[in-house]
Amino acid sequence: AAPVALISGMSSMSRHHIIIKSGPTIEKLSRAKTFAFDKTGTLTQNKLEVGDIVPEAGFSKEELQSLAASVEQQSSHIIATSLVGNTPKEAIKTVEDLKETTGQGVEGTVDGKLVKVGKYSFVADGEVPTVNATAIFVSINGQYAGYITFKDMIRPETKDTIARLRRQGAEEIMMLTGDHQNVADQIGKAAGVTQVRAELLPKEKIQAIRNVPEQQRPVVMTGDGVNDAPSLTAADVGIAMGAKGATAASESADAVIMVNDLSKINDAVAIGKHTMKVAN
Ligand code: ADP
Ligand code: MG
Repeated sequence: AAPVALISGMSSMSRHHIIIKSGPTIEKLSRAKTFAFDKTGTLTQNKLEVGDIVPEAGFSKEELQSLAASVEQQSSHIIATSLVGNTPKEAIKTVEDLKETTGQGVEGTVDGKLVKVGKYSFVADGEVPTVNATAIFVSINGQYAGYITFKDMIRPETKDTIARLRRQGAEEIMMLTGDHQNVADQIGKAAGVTQVRAELLPKEKIQAIRNVPEQQRPVVMTGDGVNDAPSLTAADVGIAMGAKGATAASESADAVIMVNDLSKINDAVAIGKHTMKVAN
């Protein structure tokens, strides 16, 4: 394509709050065949509602929430920001030796106690309690202490965005998530995706992108946060979403959607197609 057409395409994208870092991204967007999405915060709303707080015997709800929110205070994961935002400030305590493991959870010392928050396998041994919702589990000094559930709600624009992507020529639409199969299936069905891949570790998300066959490419991956950066890099086009545009996720992305609106993906594809038509 003539560079001038690509420059005009990039400026049209920016008027739609889509920042494109290079011309070839526009060309790939125009003929993308596979779209992969992270679930939490991308197909679903970027804020989760706290659901049930369920402590084990010997722990109170307040204690469980306070300790969990304290170790989550520095994490940018949407579970963390949602929990911290729903916890009174005075309940959030100083934390030491904080460590986050991407796709697993966080740990730290609060009031001299080692607190771990995340997937059950990250915090404790033994059989995973059955919880039919997006949840985090908590252990205190190695003892399992209970769990907190979240209501992960689909974005109002998700279903139409996916349907329009299919009309725009998308052949496969995959949802990739670290969350449980049952939560994932429910959201995937409501969204209208063609494939649901659940219970993935961060490296398995990357693998899912890399495994897209040549004839199903280009593959576009859209994610929200810092923890999606490696899978954005693995895609032919990585799109970071959200108003926190200048974060680590946007560094590894080819495009950034600067507003909290998933339907901008449709605009990006439409502008890409128009740009290439004009250019040729
Ligand atoms: P998703 O694919 O839904 O965006 P991730 O791969 O980021 O999820 O994380 C998968 C799971 O790991 C989460 O559902 C949660 O149980 C756990 N997890 C990851 N990061 C955190 C964190 N900061 N705090 C608590 N749990 C976490
Ligand atoms: Mg995520």
